[in-house]
Amino acid sequence: MITMDDIIKDGHPTLRKVAEEVSLPPSKEDQEILKSLLEYVINSQDEEIAKKYGLRPGIGLAAPQINVSKRMIAVHVHDKKGKLYSYALFNPKIISHSVEKAYLTSGEGCLSVDEPIPGYVPRYARITVKGYDVDGNEVKLRLKGLPAIVFQHEIDHLNGIMFYDHINKEDPFRPIENACPIER
Ligand code: ZN
Repeated sequence: MITMDDIIKDGHPTLRKVAEEVSLPPSKEDQEILKSLLEYVINSQDEEIAKKYGLRPGIGLAAPQINVSKRMIAVHVHDKKGKLYSYALFNPKIISHSVEKAYLTSGEGCLSVDEPIPGYVPRYARITVKGYDVDGNEVKLRLKGLPAIVFQHEIDHLNGIMFYDHINKEDPFRPIENACPIER
């Protein structure tokens, strides 16, 4: 089981690497890694388990964050209507996106970044993601709102990109043009 001890922190070189594609059908080992990513995110949202193991709550985790430079992510998040988006994907890819942008009014956080970094992080408002589930079956998702933001944050990790890279350095809270604010 993944704990905070397994999660590498900002400054670690693996977080800046472009992660490798996972070969499909997936190996047993890669399946176990993928499952463990989702297990962490789910456990971290369970108050009792999180307290017992000292897990920082998260809604997404990418393999590079546990120092595995392979294209795998897990997301476990509810949208504002309460619908659950719980996915663990190999080789997730944004295959199309809206012109319209979106951002979280509260900014973003990351399990690999201990201190809060304030500022708006511009994202696409709507995306279509293609990936493969733990058994290697193709999955295609149309996403908007918070789930769309989380997927973009996690897929960024596979490309060595951190959320704060997108924040305007001179003016972190400068209004983002053509963007829809999202409250968490
Ligand atoms: Zn992150």
